[in-house]
Order: sequence, then C-alpha cells, then structure tokens
Amino acid sequence: MPLVNMKDMLDHAHANGYAVGAFDLVSLDFLDGILQGAENRRAPVILSLAESHFGYFDFRNIMPAVVAAARRSPIPVAIHLDHGASLDSAVRAINLGCNGIMVDTSNAPLETNIRLTREIVNMARGCGIPVEGELGYVPGVEGEDAERHPGEIAYTTVEEAERFVAETGVDFLAVSIGTVHGHMRGEPVLDFQRLAEINQTLGIPLVIHGGTGLSDEQFRRLIDNGVAKINYYTALADAAGEVIRNHAQDGARGYTALVSGIGDAIRAEVERCIDLWGGTGRADAVLEQAQPWRNLEHVIIYNVEGLDEADTHAMMAEGRRVLSAIPGVLEVVTAQALKEDAAYRYAWLVRFCHPAVVDSYRDHPDHVAFADRRFRPVAGKRISIDYQDVEDSCS
Ligand SMILES: [Zn+2]
Repeated sequence: MPLVNMKDMLDHAHANGYAVGAFDLVSLDFLDGILQGAENRRAPVILSLAESHFGYFDFRNIMPAVVAAARRSPIPVAIHLDHGASLDSAVRAINLGCNGIMVDTSNAPLETNIRLTREIVNMARGCGIPVEGELGYVPGVEGEDAERHPGEIAYTTVEEAERFVAETGVDFLAVSIGTVHGHMRGEPVLDFQRLAEINQTLGIPLVIHGGTGLSDEQFRRLIDNGVAKINYYTALADAAGEVIRNHAQDGARGYTALVSGIGDAIRAEVERCIDLWGGTGRADAVLEQAQPWRNLEHVIIYNVEGLDEADTHAMMAEGRRVLSAIPGVLEVVTAQALKEDAAYRYAWLVRFCHPAVVDSYRDHPDHVAFADRRFRPVAGKRISIDYQDVEDSCS
C-alpha cells in the first residue's frame, strides 16, 4: 500500500518538527537507492521527478516502475512532480501516477504566478491531489547549477506569501530565503528571520529547494522554522558521478562496470539526510495518520443498440483517447465479452487516481460531450458502479 496522501505526510512532519526528503530521481539506480535508504531508516519519503530532467529519461516509461516500487514499499511514499511548468504538464504527471504536484511559475510576475497556480490547484483539487507553489526566485534549475542559471535571488516576502496562499489555495509553499539550486560559489546566507515570520503567518508546511551545500546547523534551523520538505538532488548526482569516476580511474570500461554501486552511494547519502532532517523512525506514525492513496475503478458494463461491431470499436477507441486525457484518469480499458450471448457485451473500466475524480470527471466538458454525443445515444441496457481498490488496504 504505502503510497500515501502527501498532504497528510507533510502535515505530520510540520507538526512534529522534522522534514521529509524529496529526492529527485533520474534513473532506476536512483529509485532503488532512495527507497532503500528510506526503508533502512523507516522514514517517509518523496520520490520526486523534475520536469527539467525529462530530457534524460522517458517520463512515461519510468513512472510505472516508480509507482510499483512505491506500492511495494513498507514505508509511506509520495510521488511528486517537481517544477511542473504548465497545466498540461501537471495533468500529464497526475495521469501517470504522481500524487503531488509542484507548480513553478515563480519567475512570472506575481499576478500571473497567482493566476497560473490557482488554475493548477483547481484542477488538482478535482483529483484529490495537493499542490506546492513557489514564491520568490531560487536561482538555477534542478540539476543545473546556479552558476549556469544566474540571476538575483528574489526573496519571498511575508505579505506576498500570505496573499499568494490565500488566493491560490496551495497546500505547501516553496520559499526563497537564500538557497540556490545546484552548486553555488561561497557560503549560502539564509534569512531565518524572514522564514520564521512566513511560518508564523502561514502555518502550512514550507519547502526548501537547493538543499545541497547547507550545513547541518542550517538544516536544523530551517526545520525549526517550518520547513517540512527538502528538495535534494545535486549531492545525489555528485555521489553517483564520483562512483563512475572512481570506476573509470580503476580502468572499468563497460556501462555496468562503470555504474555498479551507484545505488549504494545514493542510499548512503539519503540515509545521512534522513538522520539529519529528523525523519528516522517516523514511518509508522505517518502510516497511522496518512490516508492510503487508493485508486477508484469506474466500471460500466453495457450493450449497444444500432451500431455494428466495427462502429462500436471506433466508439471505444475515441473513448480511450478522449477520456484518458481527463485529469485524474490513470487508465481507460475497453473490453468485449468472450461469449456473444453474455448479458452485457461490452465494458469500460476507467481507473481514477482518487475518489474525488468521480465528480470532476462526471462534469468535465470532454466527458460530457463524449457521453452525450457518442455513448448514451447507442448505449442500451447498462450497469455503472464505482469500486474503491481494496488491495493492500489492510497490510
Ligand atoms: Zn527546485
């Protein structure tokens, strides 16, 4: 089971004075290393996928592995889209299995940032999915150093943060108080006073991007002042890179020889972070408090009237295409009874990511149009039932 609601997870961290690591993964070695580290520490963990990395792997291909690994894990896990750039990318991530979304339109003017973020929050609400917004500017992008993506740090102000959260409805806020993505020149100077005021004013879990390179003491003070999620990638990438460099210096040539041991290096760094950020041993408490993340199966068995088999298949194909693009739809299966005399000849199985999708799907204009124009006119006798997944719910 232990895919859980990320809001419950981060509320627990925020209330209990620790932070959950959101570790960006770029390969199956990262996936294994991150999960193994969190499992060894019995800690909640966020598997994070950054849109800026999608050139390095196929997001569609890696997500089934990420979801399967999360569901198999004995610790509470959430799967998060990091730095989603648009409504479309947020929908795509949700429909591939992410159950947390970060919207990054923070380099737009405040009004635009509020409008775009609110659009995504509204869509995600209909899918039961929490959203992280960002206010202020943290230089650099995930995996690329601030030295190469410069620009002044734009600090988050208390007044803007208050307005942003009220008007967008985000569940978590990434704040800019002096960190940068990737490596930076010199020592980061963090504005803890500002962070403390934002935390007191908002009272929601805060997020820090650009965690690499901070001192143990800096991490502790961030967490003391409301940071409940820490995004972390560069140090993991460095650890993996060092493994490859060492193998190369030892004369290794082939791919498997070069990458062997990467998972262990990542695991060790993840364990160090979890210990430092206070997550060790928290898994059971989070599992007790967090809602398990269960899918919902929307099932319709039906007969058709006035369509031959080829037309029926064409109608199903259109349904698969149209319905699978609706936010919160993980999968659309169309099927036909083996026996011609079955009481119901055809079936839809539409898998929703969360029970909230029942309502948003029913009212979605693309569903309404398909149902009214293509399905209901030909659907004869039918039965429609929503089923909640029960697998793993009592493990
Ligand atoms: Zn980031």
